[in-house]
Amino acid sequence: MRVSSKRSAKTPPPAPEPLTPLVDAHTHLDACGGADADSVRAIMDRAAAVGVQAAVTVADDLASARWVTRAADADERVYAAVALHPTRAGALTDAARAEIEALAAHPRVVAIGETGMDLYWPGRLEGCADPQTQREAFAWHIDLAKRTGKPLMIHNRDADAAVLDVLVAEGAPETVIFHCFSSGPEMAHTCVDAGWILSLSGTVSFKNARDLREAVPSIPLEQLLVETDAPFLTPHPYRGSPNEPYCLPYTVRALAELLGVAAAELAQVTSRNARGVYGLH
Ligand SMILES: [Zn+2]
Ligand SMILES: [Zn+2]
Repeated sequence: MRVSSKRSAKTPPPAPEPLTPLVDAHTHLDACGGADADSVRAIMDRAAAVGVQAAVTVADDLASARWVTRAADADERVYAAVALHPTRAGALTDAARAEIEALAAHPRVVAIGETGMDLYWPGRLEGCADPQTQREAFAWHIDLAKRTGKPLMIHNRDADAAVLDVLVAEGAPETVIFHCFSSGPEMAHTCVDAGWILSLSGTVSFKNARDLREAVPSIPLEQLLVETDAPFLTPHPYRGSPNEPYCLPYTVRALAELLGVAAAELAQVTSRNARGVYGLH
């Protein structure tokens, strides 16, 4: 997601009680205010202080794809993912493909994403790629994930059927991650059966996310990741305030409560999953 709102004007949430080990499986450090090595380190220091040991910072356009690889070089706790966001799929020119492909080969790029389908923004956001353009870009990113052997990180907004359709048509790569999984039980079932990984964000803490909260208990712990998608989707009770990787424990505790498992166990399992899926050291 991008399209920020008035949130940045609000006070940041207080630091949660530490919970460790945690890995933020999907975040946007540039949109959180990261610019140079010092500001990236400051964000990751705040995260480390509450147990968040590593984060995957995700690109959504070409400038961001260049930036995330530099951020990953600048701080050993940061890893990167590169792609053009589905809403920006119109910018996937031949030159852009060549550059994303080169960046994808970077050793600290651990996933191809975020790519996928977004059927919410077309018609609402000026310049947003239409569904057919998104589809072609998604297919190209799927192929890139296969060629690089790196996980495919999917953005899916109001597009369950379209995402599945493209995955089936192109053939899914070995590792597929649905970032900010927000769908209902049926979609969860389909993804779990396919062996895909579902990454949960602050939306899981929103009491009105009924379909999602109903779906979550059916996901095996081994197929779960946790993420902030910061600076967006700040968990309850700080919804609307700016999010950062240090806020991840709020989401993990809300998820632990929903699942009836200990937060410490969930932290262990999801960190192990993240390290395995992304091949982090
Ligand atoms: Zn997204
Ligand atoms: Zn995102």
